[in-house]
Amino acid sequence: GRDTRTSGPALSRAIIAGLLATGCDVVDLGVLPTPAVQYLVREHFDAGAVITASHNPPEYNGVKIIEGDGTEMDDTQTICLEGHLFAEEFILAGWESMGTLSAAPEMIHEYITAVAGYWKDIDADGMTVVADPGSGPACESTPQVLTKMGCHVVTINGMMDGTFPGRMPEPSPEGLQPLSELVRNTSAAFGVAHDGDADRAVFVDETGEYLEENEQFALVERFICSKTPGIVVTPVSTSFLAERIAEETGSVVDYTRVGSISVARRMIALAEEGKTVVFGGEGNGGLILPGNQHCRDGAMTAATMVALLKSSGKTLSELRTTLPPHVMLKDKIHTDSPHELLKNAKTAFSGDTLDLTDGVRINRQGMWALLRPSGTEPFMRLYVEAETEKEAEAFRDEITRVISP
Ligand code: MG
Repeated sequence: GRDTRTSGPALSRAIIAGLLATGCDVVDLGVLPTPAVQYLVREHFDAGAVITASHNPPEYNGVKIIEGDGTEMDDTQTICLEGHLFAEEFILAGWESMGTLSAAPEMIHEYITAVAGYWKDIDADGMTVVADPGSGPACESTPQVLTKMGCHVVTINGMMDGTFPGRMPEPSPEGLQPLSELVRNTSAAFGVAHDGDADRAVFVDETGEYLEENEQFALVERFICSKTPGIVVTPVSTSFLAERIAEETGSVVDYTRVGSISVARRMIALAEEGKTVVFGGEGNGGLILPGNQHCRDGAMTAATMVALLKSSGKTLSELRTTLPPHVMLKDKIHTDSPHELLKNAKTAFSGDTLDLTDGVRINRQGMWALLRPSGTEPFMRLYVEAETEKEAEAFRDEITRVISP
């Protein structure tokens, strides 16, 4: 499958040619969201590939490899795969064992039906929703899911277009001003926007206010966990709202390294141990509903927002005010020696509770901070969260002062 980027047709034909030449049978699903490919791979195929650059600008493109269970291939495996590719370690099939090619653009409907039927007890009853697929691959699927649930759907940026004429593939608050305006003008219950391959969904409330993604995570978590308490899996970079809501609902948070693959794999592993894993995802609009599939799914997240609002009887802006106070600061510290800084942090904050799952997370009463080296650039990311801005700033200043060589 592929997203709507202009380089998609060329690249998808290249990968199809390579697969056929090595003897794989290929089914071309056409243009569709990444989670739709993941769902269909899990149901029907041995593996998948999605030509997409997710949230990146239009000139980028890439490949997400999907494993047989529908999860994305992890970094270690991907590096191994690239090794084979660059060393040209592959075996071409003979003429008698070439792969076969077929097209199945209709298979997306199986995914749409599954997502739309997930909250089967919920009737949206004409709730107005504005969908902003951002000219990406969910232009048809997300409006169809919401319509099947009984919503009245209005769309903006609803025509597939790889030049992304309305907004960039990253659904940033700035790019969503037209969505906010349309939500207000149509008296919609909420607006939903996807990134470039629709595995993430972000929201604006009925007043057009952007719902911060950690708040989105917390509201969905509360909805899910108040029905069924259990384990919530999320990376160490997620807001403490996740823990507060878990306490409130008799659930627990299980922390992973940053990255949705770590979350998905952990959810599967815990479930295989017989644990009750009810919810997972990241504080960036990438939510995983394990009853649907173990991957981030933008349409599923939009469907869950409908169910949440219908069940609560409150507006989204009212629900947001029910969350505990929280302020998160995100900073970059420029450094050529990130590991020295991490070592300094471990020594300086040994009196606090440290979590070394990914970088150094410092847990303190009512606040936490995460120091994590960037994978690609000479800086360290610093996240700090507290109940008030003043506390968060003081904690941030303490950390930057103490860890500097
Ligand atoms: Mg994405």
